Amino acid sequence: MTLKLLILGGTAQAVQLAERLAGDPRFAVTYSLAGRTEAPRLPPVPTRIGGFGGVGGLSAYMREHAVDLLIDATHPFAERISANARAAGENSLIVLRREPWKPARADRWTEFATLEAAASALPAEPSRIFLTVGRQSLVPFAARPGHHYVIRVIDPPVIPPGMTNFDLLVGRGPFLLADEIALMRQHRIECLVSKNSGGEAAFAKIEAARALGLPVILVTPPQASSAGAFISVEDVMSELVRRHESLAKRSV
Ligand code: NAP
Repeated sequence: MTLKLLILGGTAQAVQLAERLAGDPRFAVTYSLAGRTEAPRLPPVPTRIGGFGGVGGLSAYMREHAVDLLIDATHPFAERISANARAAGENSLIVLRREPWKPARADRWTEFATLEAAASALPAEPSRIFLTVGRQSLVPFAARPGHHYVIRVIDPPVIPPGMTNFDLLVGRGPFLLADEIALMRQHRIECLVSKNSGGEAAFAKIEAARALGLPVILVTPPQASSAGAFISVEDVMSELVRRHESLAKRSV
């Protein structure tokens, strides 16, 4: 028997999971994206792109496609789709959520619950800020126009009104530590701002700030979306195999 899986993706971990499942006869996988990124990384499984139309739409999709298990492997800051997944998935939901980064002794981190609080915590004096919060999260920083921002995004953003003093870097990680250090030196960065997204793909900038002794302002991920989550692709694979075995036993 085959378990039908719907993976809500948009992260490196989601792609890794789908790659692990591809070709496994125990599972039939569909990979879902919101459609925010122009050229997203896609795993070698069937893909669908675009919102479902809220909880009702997601529930209807799962019914129509006879989805057995919904896997929320979205970004820790993608709160709406995770809330929809909790409501639509109920007992058939598996959450894959990497753990947030933890500071080492040398780190100069301050963490805030919101982007607005992080923007308020920027230094009082004009500074050169490496802003890596994503193109949909720039607005709160336009309220602090005294700084020079080096904004790095995957796709070109809509620059919010009021943000005038910036350089734009368009590029997709993972980035190498040596390159991150060189980039921060080149732009004479004085402070890094990031979501505490966890995972390896975006970690080099955090290590670079550590190596250069720079302060880091982080936004804490929302708690609700990580409740009962598995933190690694391996753990989700084990859970999926376990669920497949118990279903196979029941159907004998
Ligand atoms: P969000 O605010 O939680 O979701 C907004 C709406 O987008 C959802 O209500 C849903 O529309 C649709 N959606 C989101 N993820 C989807 C998916 N995987 N498949 C189908 N529809 C999806 O999400 P977001 O913060 O805009 O993030 C969008 C995507 O980018 C996510 O897949 C996430 O993993 C990825 N991402 C987000 C961030 C971040 O910082 N937020 C960073 C990197 C990657 P309907 O209600 O119509 O179904």
